[in-house]
Amino acid sequence: MDKTSACSGHAAAPVKLACALRTGGCAGCNVVGLLREVGLRPTRQRIALGRMLFAKGHRHITAEILHEEAIAARVPVSLATVYNALHQFTEAGLLREIAVEGGRAYFDTNVSDHHHFLFEDENRLVDIGGESVSFGGLPTPPEGTAISRVDVLIRLRRRPVAR
Ligand SMILES: [Zn+2]
Repeated sequence: MDKTSACSGHAAAPVKLACALRTGGCAGCNVVGLLREVGLRPTRQRIALGRMLFAKGHRHITAEILHEEAIAARVPVSLATVYNALHQFTEAGLLREIAVEGGRAYFDTNVSDHHHFLFEDENRLVDIGGESVSFGGLPTPPEGTAISRVDVLIRLRRRPVAR
């Protein structure tokens, strides 16, 4: 891999982030530096969680699943710590939070403008490119506000099998 280019599979993510957090990524980048850059103290837990989040390409992950992965990888963290870290990463712009329903939230490592398919039966999200959804018109935002982002969630269910 060219050490100066973005790691593959991370084209839409901030290049520095993708490289820094990927195991065996670009020389000269490191997760510690990255966390410092966004104002987060690089604790061992944040570094470990960051690697799990970003080393596998783009992911949509819940706090519960990340917690399970951490336990499986023998990273000693509580679910509350995982929640805190995910929210801190989100506030720092490293993740995007997608609220689906019932307070269920996914954290997306792809922070570029895009939309999602939701496979309702599997609770799985798949990216849709931002340019492949168009709008006939958006409402005028209430006075004193501006639209910061438009998220589209297209819900899918399996078609009944024809007999
Ligand atoms: Zn996404």
